[in-house]
Amino acid sequence: LLELQDIWVEYGDKIVLERLSIAIAERSFVAVVGASGSGKSTFLRLILGQEAPTRGQVLLGGQPMRAECGADRGVVFQRYSVFPHLTALGNVMFGLECAGAPFTGRLFGASRRAAKETAMAMLAAVGLEHSLHVYPAQMSGGMQQRLAIAQALVKHPRILLLDEPFGALDPGIRLDMHELITRLWQEHGLTIVMVTHDISEAFKLGTRVLAFDKRRHDPQAPHRFGATVTYDLPLDRKTFPPA
Ligand code: ATP
Ligand code: MG
Repeated sequence: LLELQDIWVEYGDKIVLERLSIAIAERSFVAVVGASGSGKSTFLRLILGQEAPTRGQVLLGGQPMRAECGADRGVVFQRYSVFPHLTALGNVMFGLECAGAPFTGRLFGASRRAAKETAMAMLAAVGLEHSLHVYPAQMSGGMQQRLAIAQALVKHPRILLLDEPFGALDPGIRLDMHELITRLWQEHGLTIVMVTHDISEAFKLGTRVLAFDKRRHDPQAPHRFGATVTYDLPLDRKTFPPA
């Protein structure tokens, strides 16, 4: 589904990703771990089409990645994925619009009423059916992340990108979120790429774990500090969700 071919990302003389090649199969759940600054978020931005590699290419379904407002990718960050000035329903309806485009109130290919119904169904799928008119500021952290997930999935993207989505949550709430994300992954036939600092979370949820390692440091080329290598550890105990 996704293919990164010999990707390099450099900022000035700093190499963030070096020779990264990986193919991500449809319906896999890739967990990405690695030290701060090892390039995990950069990797997600590449898949989002928000970052152009210095070298190499990113293919989505065999085609070069474009930074369009695609229905094929949804994204959730650790915080601030939702709009504080919109209610839960407003946020998810916004998710039906082109991500990043100004809110026009004219929803893609659907009447406002149909859009509202779609959004309400998505909110129910994440357990927020009783919080339609609540603003994010009145929600717990877990509820806000449920909302962010609903907003990201309402267009039924094929790929869901998660950047430390549960990093700010209490352990008990995290477990609930693990259950939710696993269920959505299976029910929606999603391909998920999730960045996490929590190794046990990575191995619990992922069908693959990618480790970004920035320790490799070539003393002959000190400017290359930060170069990243990746390890791909297929987990054979995992089964892919039923087709
Ligand atoms: P964290 O765990 O802290 O979120 P990360 O693994 O997500 O870290 P990235 O955000 O991908 O790391 O950043 C990788 C490296 O690239 C960092 O050293 C960062 O400072 C650098 N970097 C990222 N964006 C830019 C930019 N626009 N200009 C220069 N350097 C950048
Ligand atoms: Mg990051």
